[in-house]
Amino acid sequence: MASNPDRNNPMARRNVAAAVEDVGNTLRFLEQMGCKGFDGSKEIFDTLEAWERKDIFSVETLEDIRTDLGDCRRCRLSGGRTNIVFGSGNPHAKLVFIGEGPGYEEDRQGQPFVGAAGRLLTKIIEAIKLTRNQVYICNIVKCRPPGNRNPMPDEIAACSPFLKRQIAAIHPDFICTLGSFATQTLLETKEPISKLRGIFYDYMGIKVMPTYHPAFLLRNPAKKRSVWEDMKKLMKALGVG
Ligand code: URA
Repeated sequence: MASNPDRNNPMARRNVAAAVEDVGNTLRFLEQMGCKGFDGSKEIFDTLEAWERKDIFSVETLEDIRTDLGDCRRCRLSGGRTNIVFGSGNPHAKLVFIGEGPGYEEDRQGQPFVGAAGRLLTKIIEAIKLTRNQVYICNIVKCRPPGNRNPMPDEIAACSPFLKRQIAAIHPDFICTLGSFATQTLLETKEPISKLRGIFYDYMGIKVMPTYHPAFLLRNPAKKRSVWEDMKKLMKALGVG
């Protein structure tokens, strides 16, 4: 599988910080010497100073995001939930699966995809020669919609910033969106999943492969063949199998 950039390597982080400091010092020196022919604008120095002040690789961790989410009451779904289903798996995963929202079993256990659809998702993950512990699994909304109804636009709007922060923290190489809600929300489109699936899209430099939701497959087993076609593309791109 392709590897992530070096942001988790302390040596690489120190090297980049030192390089930024060197660039700043060199530009300041050249400016003081009255040299011309380089961009010595205020914007450049402001940017360099901002880079020097903070670790430019720094991103919040999943724990930071979970702490910020707290005992979330940002939308009406909080009223009916038993547990927030934040997400589970490898915080440095190369591949993230995104579903719609917790169902009965997920709400009870506080874990994503642990009911019937979850068992099928586990089989899909194993079919692409990975385990649940190697990938990260989460949802568009973190609280169960009553009676498993579709999440409403204001509920998605309240919850999706947390998902986007989770994606930024994990910074996977690939995302597999499961079903129309996850796909349409992430890719900001209204196209049906039947049109979107099986093609790679870009989300913030991350390759997104939409496919059918496992719950849909339980009702329409004939569509498993399409999902397998999508997973083969994903495996090839991941370099597994
Ligand atoms: N369906 C989803 O979309 N997510 C879950 O976590 C479980 C079922």
